[in-house]
Amino acid sequence: MTTHAPQTTRSVTLPTSLDEAVAALTAMPAAVPIAGGTDLMVAVNKGRLRPAGLVGLSRISEIRGWRYQDGHALLGAGLTHARMGRPDFAALIPALAASARAAGPPQIRNAGTLGGNIASSAPTGDTLPVLAALEADLIIAGPGGARREIPVAQLLAGRDMLAPAELIGYVRVPLLHAPQVFLKATGRTGPGRATASVAVVLDPARRGVRCAVGAIAPMPLRPLEAEQWIASYIDWDGERGLAGEALVAFGEYVAAACIPDPPPAPAGMEQPVHPPAVLHLRRTVAALARRALGRALS
Ligand SMILES: Cc1cc2nc3c(=O)[nH]c(=O)nc-3n(C[C@H](O)[C@H](O)[C@H](O)COP(=O)(O)OP(=O)(O)OC[C@H]3O[C@@H](n4cnc5c(N)ncnc54)[C@H](O)[C@@H]3O)c2cc1C
Repeated sequence: MTTHAPQTTRSVTLPTSLDEAVAALTAMPAAVPIAGGTDLMVAVNKGRLRPAGLVGLSRISEIRGWRYQDGHALLGAGLTHARMGRPDFAALIPALAASARAAGPPQIRNAGTLGGNIASSAPTGDTLPVLAALEADLIIAGPGGARREIPVAQLLAGRDMLAPAELIGYVRVPLLHAPQVFLKATGRTGPGRATASVAVVLDPARRGVRCAVGAIAPMPLRPLEAEQWIASYIDWDGERGLAGEALVAFGEYVAAACIPDPPPAPAGMEQPVHPPAVLHLRRTVAALARRALGRALS
């Protein structure tokens, strides 16, 4: 369906399938896709973006739900944060549900989508560290019914971009059937953008701990050595508990990996230290990582 807004003479297309949406973008390369509009309309309202046309994704029912597939959940890019925050979804992928519940005030969560969060790739995107820790993949729809699958981390790192007319169709997330936690710090009370966030995911089948830190860099950071180190101390066949000192050490390890010490000063010079704001951020990351792992293991 196509309508024309008289004041702007820009076209708005509302396809009902992923392939129709891709075809609409192929036919009008200057058009941009819009899902919930919570990021895109901010850019339009601030005058940063003047799209020649919009291809609305909200009527594509195939990407608004999820289904099971080979031990994974195939999540439609059109899932809203509000939907992902509900208990049935939380039973499936608890950390993603927790991040969705933290993603802004209710009116934003009702409209904002998983695909929009990923495509915007804002450092403060709350689902992003969770998807990084889960090592999720994206299924991207392209012209002619083409589908390709890439790790979400590739897109977030800018190593693989969406080509013109491509859309994020689905997110493939492994179902780990084990505790996972997302925690977020904001600089204020109530809903707000993250100043730092941490996702911790246990993977008992691979005897692994996976952790990603969000909001402190352009993309989520994975402290791989800290993950491997702490996983070796967990009794995977027993109680899986860890002493308080080990949790503290994990938090410090994660924080130091993500916000390293300044390089050593040349001989005779005073050793540089981080400014107070950076030290505060490092302490915040350490506390979030310690608490997240503690909760996952409790
Ligand atoms: C007041 C306010 C508070 C917010 N708070 C938070 C917060 O706490 N945490 C957080 O994470 N986010 C927050 N956001 C940001 C926003 O709500 C999320 O990023 C949301 O997930 C974006 O989804 P959307 O569907 O609205 O995307 P849209 O605005 O529709 O689109 C965003 C971008 O993604 C592209 N796009 C959308 N869907 C697709 C797709 N399937 N394939 C390819 N490209 C696509 C669009 O072209 C556009 O470039 C906030 C926003 C506002 C306005």
